[in-house]
Amino acid sequence: QHLFALNQVSLSASPFLHAQQTNVRYLLALHPDQLLAPYLREAGLEPKAPNYGNWESTGLDGHIGGHYLSALSLAWAATGDEELKQRLDYMLSELDRAQQATGGYLGGIPNGDEMWQQIEKGEIKADLFSLNDRWVPLYNIDKIFHGLRDAYDVAGSDKAKQMLFKLGEWFLATTAKLTDEQVQQMLYSEHGGLNDVFADMYFISDDERYLKLARQFSHNIIIEPLLHKEDKLTGLHANTQIPKIIGMLKVANASDDKAWQQGADFFWKTVSQERSVSIGGNSVREHFHDKSDFTPMVEDVEGPETCNTYNMMKLSKLLFLKTGDTRYLDYYERATYNHILSSQHPEHGGLVYFTSMRPGHYRMYSSVQDSMWCCVGSGIENHSKYGELIYSNTGQEL
Ligand SMILES: [Zn+2]
Repeated sequence: QHLFALNQVSLSASPFLHAQQTNVRYLLALHPDQLLAPYLREAGLEPKAPNYGNWESTGLDGHIGGHYLSALSLAWAATGDEELKQRLDYMLSELDRAQQATGGYLGGIPNGDEMWQQIEKGEIKADLFSLNDRWVPLYNIDKIFHGLRDAYDVAGSDKAKQMLFKLGEWFLATTAKLTDEQVQQMLYSEHGGLNDVFADMYFISDDERYLKLARQFSHNIIIEPLLHKEDKLTGLHANTQIPKIIGMLKVANASDDKAWQQGADFFWKTVSQERSVSIGGNSVREHFHDKSDFTPMVEDVEGPETCNTYNMMKLSKLLFLKTGDTRYLDYYERATYNHILSSQHPEHGGLVYFTSMRPGHYRMYSSVQDSMWCCVGSGIENHSKYGELIYSNTGQEL
């Protein structure tokens, strides 16, 4: 199965079109110079504006900037609004300036230079939420990798492609001397879908080094039980795992690895059929609970996290494209209507982190200039993708 490009499908008047338009206003309200500030600072250049607050100045500096490239690319593809394209071009030219200054690296991780030097030497100290005393730096750099990929792949920017592979060369050099064990140790810390983007870089370039890197940055301790159809997910941080499996499936597709394909499918099945509620969401307090007891899901204020559904939909899409099996679309549709659409405030465009399953519970929406959570980063991408899977084709059939 193949997708049509977002600019080949237009939405008619509907709650989906409304959500798309509301999100465009949210995107344009964000100040690019504030999102760029961490990147310029880390490159030794003078920022034009202060960092945003919240997660953008408490260690995860720059993560929203990466999502912003993806979000602008998707929104521009979906709407054709030139202001979005101009905003994307401005972001890329400023990031290019930062990357020129460093010679390859691009990131907002506080005092990142020192940390990457330690990593290059194999000095690694990792747990789920930190790596070498930084707040999930691999998760952070994963966002700029994905942003550049989307600016090339979705918005067609050749500059973004050059920047992506320049960053890739830097990453290859920085991790060249690490053993597989050292890489696996780093992967204990949340790292988004680095294996996903490295596999895409292989698809784009045919450069085998990126396929090798994608396999090396696949987290074996999570993958291993899936190969034996064992669900060892209870208690794990949920959204940390889902992107790893998207990457696992891409690596499997690139190397025709049936065992990994089936492992990724097993993950999809257990999460979508046994660990999700009716809206398509999963997790309580960001973690997978015991699948035989959904009591915490009904009682806790922190129910399904939006990022998890965003990632499960990506995984469903990939599995559908691979197999043509519409059960993946059934999940995608359920999650679209019942979780993602409702995760945005229909007037001011604020986005929710948790969708509580508590009866009658309130929701907390992001405020555009103040809230810089993960679910804002994925959230600003979500509402431009309603057109992506209305149709698909095999080349012969619609
Ligand atoms: Zn989130």
